[in-house]
Amino acid sequence: MDLWITEYQTPALGFSCKINSTLKVEQTPYQHLAVVDTQQFGRMLLLDGMVMTTDVDEYVYHEMIINVALNSHPNPENVLIIGGGDGGALREAVRHPLVKKATLVEIDAQVIEASREFFPQMSCAFENPKAQVIVEDGVKYVKDHVDEFDIIVVDSTEPVGPAIALFSSEFYKACAGALQEDGMLVVQSESPFFNRNVIEMAYTGISEHFPLAKLYLASIPTYPSGLWSFTIGSKRYDPECPLCADYALKYYNPEVHRAAFVLPEMTREILAGIGSGR
Ligand code: SAM
Repeated sequence: MDLWITEYQTPALGFSCKINSTLKVEQTPYQHLAVVDTQQFGRMLLLDGMVMTTDVDEYVYHEMIINVALNSHPNPENVLIIGGGDGGALREAVRHPLVKKATLVEIDAQVIEASREFFPQMSCAFENPKAQVIVEDGVKYVKDHVDEFDIIVVDSTEPVGPAIALFSSEFYKACAGALQEDGMLVVQSESPFFNRNVIEMAYTGISEHFPLAKLYLASIPTYPSGLWSFTIGSKRYDPECPLCADYALKYYNPEVHRAAFVLPEMTREILAGIGSGR
């Protein structure tokens, strides 16, 4: 008998993967956590039944949530990552040659432990000398730090449970305060097809506290609709302009960086509806 796992991406749409085995299932104080071994995407981390990351396609999301900001800021020495307990975003930050320190603030220690146990290509970052891993609520952590970071990345779950506050204007204001005078904030803002409301929340909130706010996209097979968005706020530099012309990874390169900001009409309309006119 075949075993399958399904993420219900909407009440009427399921994303199913055939699995070889279930590796871990537990209830943490914050969410339901599962790790399964899928035939198509390798190992898969799910939180509350939602695909967070997989062996096979994690590099797309992690390269794009980190390197667009890092490669458009001239001196991204000090990076803060909120969430990201799988370690993938942290790995991308510490590998960047200009980064001197990367702090990860994850609320759920059990996500970090599950990554250490099952996702070595991401959790390797936890031991990097540039990295500091803190188990705390990112909402509180940001409020306690002022004028400190060059880049803040919010690699959170969707706005449910402890992540709800990470999509608020108040939180984005606190991030602006925690950033240096030329800092940048990047948040994952879900799918233009299924999560128009999340993009509206992120874009509206970031536009209130940053002089520059833009949206960019990447193709991520295991995320709802396969098209994913990131909203970036910048106090000074244009995030559409990669500064290093030869920084190429497995998905990211300077041409993909620029192209990511070219939005289809159905996405421009979301932003236009917010009155941003892009
Ligand atoms: N790439 C995934 C996505 O786009 O949905 C996110 C992956 S990462 C595992 C999401 C992490 O955010 C989870 O481990 C969750 O525990 C963490 N998180 C949620 N709310 C948080 C908060 N308030 N402070 C810190 N971490 C939080």
